[in-house]
Amino acid sequence: MDYSELADCYEKLESTTKKLQKRDILNEFYFRTPKNELYDIVLLSLGQVFPSGQENLGIASELMKKIIINVTGAAEKEFDAAFRETGDPGLAAERLMKSRKQNTLGRRKLTTRKVVENTKKLPEMQGKGSREKKIALISELLSAASPKEARYIVRTVLGEMRVGVAAGTVRDAIAKAFSREPRDIEHLFDVTGDFGRVATMAAEGKTAKMEVFVPVRMMLAERAPDLKAALEKFGMAAAVETKYDGFRIQAHKKNSDIKIFSRNLEEVSRQFPDIVAHARECMRAKQCIAEGEVVAIDRKGNPLPFQMLSRRIQRKHSIDEMVRQIPVQVRMFDIIYLEGENLMKSPLKERWSRLKETVKPAGGFGLAEHLETADYKEANAFYQKALDAGQEGVMVKNLDAPYQPGKRVGYWLKVKEIMETLDCIITKAVAGEGKRSAWFGSFLLSVWDEKKEKLVEIGKMASGTTEEELEKLTQMLKKAVIREQDRIAEVMPEIVVEVAYEEIQKSPTYDSGMALRFPRLKRIRYDKGPADADNIKRVKKLFAMQAIGKSKQ
Ligand code: ATP
Repeated sequence: MDYSELADCYEKLESTTKKLQKRDILNEFYFRTPKNELYDIVLLSLGQVFPSGQENLGIASELMKKIIINVTGAAEKEFDAAFRETGDPGLAAERLMKSRKQNTLGRRKLTTRKVVENTKKLPEMQGKGSREKKIALISELLSAASPKEARYIVRTVLGEMRVGVAAGTVRDAIAKAFSREPRDIEHLFDVTGDFGRVATMAAEGKTAKMEVFVPVRMMLAERAPDLKAALEKFGMAAAVETKYDGFRIQAHKKNSDIKIFSRNLEEVSRQFPDIVAHARECMRAKQCIAEGEVVAIDRKGNPLPFQMLSRRIQRKHSIDEMVRQIPVQVRMFDIIYLEGENLMKSPLKERWSRLKETVKPAGGFGLAEHLETADYKEANAFYQKALDAGQEGVMVKNLDAPYQPGKRVGYWLKVKEIMETLDCIITKAVAGEGKRSAWFGSFLLSVWDEKKEKLVEIGKMASGTTEEELEKLTQMLKKAVIREQDRIAEVMPEIVVEVAYEEIQKSPTYDSGMALRFPRLKRIRYDKGPADADNIKRVKKLFAMQAIGKSKQ
């Protein structure tokens, strides 16, 4: 397909704010897309070339600016002026392309396939000479693009489409284009986590089928005010489990092949060869998909803070050394697929017993501590024991409930002593002072406001950060800078941080109307994207809980 057709579609989407109109524009577009291109087109309509959460294209705004200047022959100040006026690198590129000084004669037609091909190569480029290769790949596309096409190529590469297409709209458009129920499409997404595959399966009339090595979106928990309330909610059907403070994994096994996926469905097998080896030995099934939590431990087997584990997740080289330095334990708590059978609809009670039959604990790979009880005293003793052992708290689970992929439906409730934290998105960063002038020193925190359909600010975080963390945050943010003025950098809203705070207050300081008092960094959430961050609804809920004294310090 010519990329110009897709660019026209993006433009139509951008011209309306109405969800139904957007759905119909997409539905019509998907319907007439050739089957062999449907996968890429659906992802592109979401501004992606990889299924969500997988691979960051790793192109900083600075590099993109350089490429646009090279390709258009514009002066730097012309780019800066266009960017200042439009606030969008895509529109700035379009404007400069229109007054392009270089010859556009003999321009070849750009296809969507070519755009996908070049863009997909970007994250593979690493090490020496990679910057030049990345420049060449993007320049090739922009040189062949019309001004309008350039607008959308730049936005796709920067991961910032601005055409207002949400996952729900894509789901409904796929359903309509291929005469399916939105519920079926949602289900296909649950078991594939990939809208590209969902569309091709829907077009072929396929229904949701689980497959080993295709990660499933993971079930999530809600917070309970306290243990008593959680137990009461499930009556006789409650299980209490230790809530380990680590890293969620989904382990897939087919014969002796193992793949480990993170919560955002990224494969992390390479970083965890020790888990792969243990899973191969301990998961006694030909084919299965099971879930658990990985925790870093010290020599005595006590849990270490999450920061240690995050060093292992980040590490892409000298893995063996890391395995020795930071040993881990795995505690499995669920199984959703076993020997060809989809267990998601089975109640947790049954899944737990199938898991027990499947996992034979050895070498740090075992089962989560699990107690089935409705008795508060017994549950509380379990809870206190977990806290004494340095764990985060407990999960209270409904034993009658199915596995609900990607949802917080209240079948799992987390109970923790410590005050609830918030996962916020950094939207601005302010340069540090004195000794810290090479780094950013404070960070504006935002959350999504569904009603206003935008990010709203809720606080400014300046403390709780060690120099190591500050440096890491600075490195990540520098790559995300959109513009900088008076020591304040506006950054792409892509970095999620978990933040602790003293209190939530009502305040006119920020456009959310709420403010966090003394927010401090708990950890950078490498495993979460902006879509997984908290929203204003949750901030307000926590504010209300705080008012009735339910949120603990
Ligand atoms: P938190 O910040 O509290 O970890 P979260 O937003 O990452 O929360 P939640 O849905 O609130 O995710 O809590 C569920 C997470 O708790 C799971 O994703 C998993 O990583 C972790 N966890 C630890 N122990 C268990 C357990 N026994 N059962 C289920 N999840 C567990």
